[in-house]
Amino acid sequence: MSQQTTLAVVAPKFAEFVKHLPSVDDLAACDEEKLRQLWSGLGYYARARNLKKGAQCIVEQRKGNFPQSYQEWLEIPGCGPYTAAAIASICCHEKVACVDGNVIRVVSRLLALQDVWSSSGQSAIQAYVTRIQPDNRPGDFNQAMMELGATVCRKTKPQCHLCPLQEHCLAFAKNCIELCPPKKPRRDAVNVELFAVVVWRKTTDAIAIVKRTKGFLSNTVGFPLISESEVEEANKLLKSLPHLQLSELPNTFSHNITHHRISGRVFVAQEIENASVCLQIDILQHLYWVARSDITSKLSTSLDNKVLQLFHKYYDK
Ligand code: SF4
Repeated sequence: MSQQTTLAVVAPKFAEFVKHLPSVDDLAACDEEKLRQLWSGLGYYARARNLKKGAQCIVEQRKGNFPQSYQEWLEIPGCGPYTAAAIASICCHEKVACVDGNVIRVVSRLLALQDVWSSSGQSAIQAYVTRIQPDNRPGDFNQAMMELGATVCRKTKPQCHLCPLQEHCLAFAKNCIELCPPKKPRRDAVNVELFAVVVWRKTTDAIAIVKRTKGFLSNTVGFPLISESEVEEANKLLKSLPHLQLSELPNTFSHNITHHRISGRVFVAQEIENASVCLQIDILQHLYWVARSDITSKLSTSLDNKVLQLFHKYYDK
């Protein structure tokens, strides 16, 4: 939960999560709807899906037995080297280094290292932390390194006067703390144009939403989204349906997801007869109706909430 999300946000959500899903069996059996509700507000829903996949693997393939080593944890879906190292060192007391952004910063300063973002730089840091990790209490060591980076050797205003490593710190000695680590090279942003469709049944004030099955928002629930390449086909189809009246909202929205910079347009496809909408196109399949009053709880991304706000703006409740 705390990957990409602050602990202040995570703490109450975590308490709620384990209250509803106290065991690995509960998580493995949890239905999608409940999982989405428990995860709402944390973002990056893919993490919840991975967590469930991991739980299912433990329950179904390992008969409920948790992995007992770094290598075994790596075999669990959704569990990469960082997570496997954290769990193996903290729970299984295995000596394996756990290197996150905080640890990279501490080591970069301790050794006055500049080359920290290349793969050779990352391997060197991993090797260094593994070398200095003690045989006993490897989990405590990993947590102490992460905590030192988060609370003392902070990105800005490091608290060197409180630091237990000060006398060994080369960046402190050379007075070059601000230069360590250097800024991470940014991935070029990719501009994406998306079209969101609000299919609205005015007579019952219901809106159709969909579980997306592809694209970078796959496995989230929200409005049908159409990419630039699909828009012509979708437009033609929507216009050809006699019981739908298509109009575009004057306002657009923008949204960033990792390095994708999305600019979005919103179309409202209003049902003008109380006929059942049957959209025979792959990109708009699997729609289901939700009362407008309930829709906020069903949407799983903040992009969808932006679309909903725009819709509310022009179509009063
Ligand atoms: Fe970081 Fe300062 Fe400690 Fe060096 S002395 S590790 S820069 S907090």
